[in-house]
Amino acid sequence: EPFYRELPKVELHAHLTGSVSVATMKQLITGKPHLNIKHSMTTIRKGQQRTLDECFEVFKVLHQLVDTEEDLLMITKAVIREFAEDGVRYLELRSTPRVETKTGLTKRRYVETVIEAIRQCKEEDIDIDVRFLVAVDRRNGPEVALETVKIAEDYMLSSDGIVVGMDLSGDPTIGHGKDLLPALQKARNCGLKLALHMSEVLSQKEESELLLTLPPDRIGHGTFLHPEVGGSMSLVHKVRQQNIPLELCLTSNIMSKTVESYEKHHFLYWYQLGHPCVLCTDDKGVFSTSLSQEYQLAASTFGLDQEAVWMLSQQAINCSFAPEAVKEQLQQRWAEYKSQLN
Ligand code: IMP
Repeated sequence: EPFYRELPKVELHAHLTGSVSVATMKQLITGKPHLNIKHSMTTIRKGQQRTLDECFEVFKVLHQLVDTEEDLLMITKAVIREFAEDGVRYLELRSTPRVETKTGLTKRRYVETVIEAIRQCKEEDIDIDVRFLVAVDRRNGPEVALETVKIAEDYMLSSDGIVVGMDLSGDPTIGHGKDLLPALQKARNCGLKLALHMSEVLSQKEESELLLTLPPDRIGHGTFLHPEVGGSMSLVHKVRQQNIPLELCLTSNIMSKTVESYEKHHFLYWYQLGHPCVLCTDDKGVFSTSLSQEYQLAASTFGLDQEAVWMLSQQAINCSFAPEAVKEQLQQRWAEYKSQLN
């Protein structure tokens, strides 16, 4: 429906590689025939499901397809353009800096290339404000995490406000937050904002307790925080007390089977508490979705009218890591849109 597309939106949880569209993937696959990658290996079509494990296999394939600065620049610009076309006016992209020895790609060049793509989109007057969260992949352990924090800190200081924070992501069944805590504390202390994946799977209860002591500025997924699904009231209390916004990705959770159905998504639990909830796509390419589609799904599943949908989208502005002046501009823009609606 056009309403959801035209609604101005804020996207706060989007992994760059997972956001690459089907069209861009086709282009990459055609350009690298020697890899022998079939299209079915890179996306999950509507109605299909995969386990979280299988989803992480998909990322491995995608990383093979994006191994040069040129690829990275191209996919980043395409992803930004696609979000803008879907009505996203403020975007925080997250990505894990990678080394590709074959092509000479380094972690710093990786970060610089993403920043360059963001700058080019701005020069091309694409109607979207884009920021970058440097991601720590939990599987790589504490030393790499510390190295990534150092990189993020350097670019936070030199990117004119494009690098604003960090993400903790990767296979939730591998590694423990305890080992990564020192790196995350360091990031916090130097002024980087933290958006951390938490309680994506049930076994992360203890880890979530620990990460909440930081505390993070936002929580990704938080699927198993509340007691009805095996979490605990103590976790819920801490999240509520500190008013930490949740980034919620409906389709992603259903397609990767951590949530049974749209109706049973934990969005409802937190939304009914009046807790800040931000709808996000996670990996719009891999899960064949868009942010407007996620808003539409939430509205139809939970019976939200246009006013409630607008409020949900407006509330996301304050959950962003944008400077106050930018938040105010966005608020104005949202208000203008609303006055046209009535
Ligand atoms: P990249 O960081 O831009 O390469 O995006 C892909 C990466 O994002 C994956 O390798 C994971 O580390 C992370 N990622 C994407 N989706 C998820 C998720 O649902 N849970 C945890 N990590 C994720």
